[in-house]
Amino acid sequence: MSEAQNHFLIIVPAAGTGTRMGAGVPKQYLKIGNPPKTLLELSVAALHQALPDARIVVAVRPGDEQVKTLSLPEAEILTSGGETRAQTVYQTLSCLKDQFDPATLVLVHDAARALIEPEDIRHLAECAADVIRSGACCGAVLTTALPDTVKRVNAEAVICEDIERTGLVRIATPQAFPLSVLLKALENNKTATDESSAVRGIGGKVCVVSGSPLNFKITEPGDLQLARRLAEKQPKMHIGIGYDSHRLVIGRKLILGGVEIPFEKGLDGHSDADVLIHAVIDALLGAAHLGNIGLLFPNTDPAYKDVDSAKLLQETIRLVREKGWTIENLDTVLITEAPKINPHLAKIERRLAQILDIPVEDISVKPKTNERLGFEGRSEGISAQAVVLLKRKPL
Ligand code: MG
Repeated sequence: MSEAQNHFLIIVPAAGTGTRMGAGVPKQYLKIGNPPKTLLELSVAALHQALPDARIVVAVRPGDEQVKTLSLPEAEILTSGGETRAQTVYQTLSCLKDQFDPATLVLVHDAARALIEPEDIRHLAECAADVIRSGACCGAVLTTALPDTVKRVNAEAVICEDIERTGLVRIATPQAFPLSVLLKALENNKTATDESSAVRGIGGKVCVVSGSPLNFKITEPGDLQLARRLAEKQPKMHIGIGYDSHRLVIGRKLILGGVEIPFEKGLDGHSDADVLIHAVIDALLGAAHLGNIGLLFPNTDPAYKDVDSAKLLQETIRLVREKGWTIENLDTVLITEAPKINPHLAKIERRLAQILDIPVEDISVKPKTNERLGFEGRSEGISAQAVVLLKRKPL
């Protein structure tokens, strides 16, 4: 994600009193999952996971006491709620507009779409920023597919019109527009049921970004039942372990974790012999049941002669993500008598975080000497060990 992320504002309108569920509480406060969390807490957690640097504002009704009982450490609560969703968003923007640049990208998200995938939120934000930058559209909204045949029925529940399905989508949230555009659009239309209608009302062109069907709105008792079933399934976790060693020789560069370390020797191998990255690759492949580094990137293949191991790690991650896994964390041990690794540690961890595209806090590299024992202790070679934890949504 670009540094523009710091300028995101996310508004979660949660001022509704709707009790269509018959549960006696507004739907944003209904709980699902184990441990049970409110739809509002789950939505905010997904938004924060997707865009950790964005400012998240939850807009509630004045006098709402229930919101104070929730765990929402990533959000600020504003009592800017109005009678309608459009009013709530408008009033919230009006309160905050002086604190932001008018071009700030604002994402509005329904609290009731609590099972949204963080990946979809990130994707929408990127697409919106792109279309705004290029001038193609003034914003973007997430949609979900509409696989069913759609018909119009009359008051007597009789079909009165067949509707051609081609080109139909279900409009979801988040909906992303520059602050100034959204403010002007809602000033003009305080009854719009979604932001894209209001923006189109002032002549704005809006593009759609398709997302996961999990981003459905939990409105009716049947939706709640489905959401509960989905949320109660625990994610699948896999641990992987990796090990590698290479010989230290004169006349080679020393590359560890994708970083060149100044030293009189380097590691010998077919590739750049980055022992740490090789251990990480095997840990990832092991956790995802994708074989091992020797099978995927054979050292007999000229394509991998002197190859930058960071590229092999990138390819590994692509395969791992393709199978639906996300990386929770990586822990490693690097065993070398010399050179001293500590001065380069932060750089190595940053580089690995960059290649893996996960926060540096989820990565650890721990250098060890081997007390002069074994081949590492005699400075004949360097070895590395890695452990990763992968997580995947239940199928
Ligand atoms: Mg190796």
